[in-house]
Amino acid sequence: MTQLLQDKDRIFTNLYGHHDWRLAGAKQRGCWNMTREMLEEGRDWIIGEVKGSGLRGRGGAGFPTGLKWSFMPKEVGARPHYLVVNADESEPGTCKDREIMRHDPHHLIEGCLIASFAMQAHECYIYIRGEYVLERERLEAAIAEAYEARLIGKDNVHGWDFDLYVHHGAGAYICGEETALLESLEGKKGQPRLKPPFPANAGLYGCPTTVNNVESIAVVPTILRRGKEWFAGFGREGNTGTKIFSISGHVNAPCNIEEAMSIPLRTLIDSYAGGVRGGWDNLKAVIPGGSSVPLIPKEICDDVLLDFDALKEHKTGLGTAAVIVMDKSTDVVKAIARISYFYKHESCGQCTPCREGTGWMWRVLERMARGEAETSEIDDLLDVAGQVEGHTICALGDAAAWPVQGLIRHFRHEIEERIENYRAGRPVFVQAPVAAE
Ligand code: NAD
Ligand code: SF4
Repeated sequence: MTQLLQDKDRIFTNLYGHHDWRLAGAKQRGCWNMTREMLEEGRDWIIGEVKGSGLRGRGGAGFPTGLKWSFMPKEVGARPHYLVVNADESEPGTCKDREIMRHDPHHLIEGCLIASFAMQAHECYIYIRGEYVLERERLEAAIAEAYEARLIGKDNVHGWDFDLYVHHGAGAYICGEETALLESLEGKKGQPRLKPPFPANAGLYGCPTTVNNVESIAVVPTILRRGKEWFAGFGREGNTGTKIFSISGHVNAPCNIEEAMSIPLRTLIDSYAGGVRGGWDNLKAVIPGGSSVPLIPKEICDDVLLDFDALKEHKTGLGTAAVIVMDKSTDVVKAIARISYFYKHESCGQCTPCREGTGWMWRVLERMARGEAETSEIDDLLDVAGQVEGHTICALGDAAAWPVQGLIRHFRHEIEERIENYRAGRPVFVQAPVAAE
């Protein structure tokens, strides 16, 4: 029996906005407590605590946060250092950073100050998704409060001059890719840069920069206050801490919930999302980490743990921890064709495998969903997905290829059946009855 996380161990205690999000309420919940003392411990201590906590980036890739911070130059030369917070949350199924910015913005603002101090940055930019208008307004109001209370700004009470700016994106998914984001922030077309160099060497305006996800930064103050051992005590080795999961799709009660890493998928869905519509046996598949990662069928869902390494063993990933649930009524071929359309639409067009491959995969999948294809085209599709994966400038190419590969790995028989049905003049796809809520 898995022990569920208790409220006292949750970092985000206002995820649903039941309490005051403003400075007074945030302080009551522990924000801005001992911040100056934590800065006085010094940069090495802060980076050491973040490393020791095992925190891995919460934006999707899971790169160790403390290690990323340690890539920044030790000395500040002629080029200023920057922290950039990636709040361009656009991965389908993902809506966790939105709740932090709406309801607990001071966790993020305090985290920005601490992380900037640790990396010797006096300026930080939060790049927020174009559609997040309320969140931008909330964030700006909370930042104004922090300036007013001299928690940030010049000559603030923490002794580290620090300015924080919010930049509103314009609705392009690709601007969530860290280097496209930097291009966009510089006023250019949002197209990814080749890496290396990584941002720590050449980031914003060519200066040393760290780009971190909202959740990664917002958990830092609590990790420092409660200690690296406390955070590392949740989850498993290499997959520690608490994490916000966004559960959507065919569940009875979609929600965002902060839980310990490595919680079993089934426990998460049953305990917090009211279970699968029609019961667990009515489950068909789950996308465990946002649209970029391959789906897994029920047999794997039955006992898989939700963390980076456990999901990797099943050729998928934790990604953004956006759990998208599909019950037996789902037309899984059509669903992946729709995801393929998304990547085709959002491709920046800079590299050929992605620009041409995403459209090609989408068109073939649409035909397959209607059964109008040759069986041999399934292997052609797999071949093209393999030509896109790992052959592009940024991860959007991989993100377009992986869901297609997952579909063929686990549901090839459904595509084959459609092709046979179409040829035989039978209905191509008969939807299973939709279970009552
Ligand atoms: P990545 O693995 O290329 O990089 C992850 C981070 O680690 C980056 O900050 C990168 O600079 C750093 N890094 C990696 N290798 C490094 C090295 N050798 N030296 C220094 N720094 C290094 O992945 P990515 O393209 O940033 O992210 C891909 C993931 O993003 C996808 O798997 C997906 O889950 C996720 N994603 C999230 C959203 C969202 O809305 N949060 C949207 C789209 C995609
Ligand atoms: Fe643009 Fe796609 Fe190439 Fe990324 S992989 S740079 S989105 S064309």
